[in-house]
Amino acid sequence: MIIKSAEFLCSNTQVSKLPTPVLPEYAFIGRSNVGKSSLINMLVDKKGLAKTSQTPGKTQLINHFKVNDKWFIVDLPGYGFARVSKSSKEKWEKFIRAYLTKRENLQCVMVLIDSRLTPQKVDLDFINWLGDQGLPFVLIFTKADKQSKGKTAQNVELFKNEMLKQWEEVPQLFITSSEDGSGRDEVLQFVDEINSG
Ligand code: GDP
Repeated sequence: MIIKSAEFLCSNTQVSKLPTPVLPEYAFIGRSNVGKSSLINMLVDKKGLAKTSQTPGKTQLINHFKVNDKWFIVDLPGYGFARVSKSSKEKWEKFIRAYLTKRENLQCVMVLIDSRLTPQKVDLDFINWLGDQGLPFVLIFTKADKQSKGKTAQNVELFKNEMLKQWEEVPQLFITSSEDGSGRDEVLQFVDEINSG
């Protein structure tokens, strides 16, 4: 896919105020600091589109971006930040769950996983919840440039094994780096196939 345009559309704090669901949409989510903003900017080749290093746990916004006038990228607030209070965590869950379960044009949830880490409970819990809801999702491993290919492969394998304890198969997965652009073509091709399917 060639990216011709990518623009910020709107920020929302309420599911009821989301943009009209006229285009297919892909939601990006993961732990705070997983590299979500960097990945979105890398995919659309536009530095600064999604704001990096936001203060976690502050305003929880759903940000919409329009790509090629054909599809939406949705930047969801990160989860699993240790310093977030219980009430803030509950608010996050309610908000995100409402969005994910009600959004009719949502094609796929892109779950970001830090490729440097061994499987984390917070990610597995979220994935299991997606599965319980029957929501389609893929895994995007981030920051692959930070360690050797062997180490990344090892963590991916551990994650797969962890998933196979609960699931019969693992979803499609991508290994990416916002630093060197790896995985970009694969993720965009995946979106392209769904959009044109
Ligand atoms: P977010 O909180 O999930 O949106 O994460 P950010 O995109 O703000 O990234 C968090 C930190 O990780 C920043 O310092 C980024 O520069 C860094 N980072 C994100 N992606 C990558 C990557 O692919 N490679 C490397 N080396 N650093 C990354």
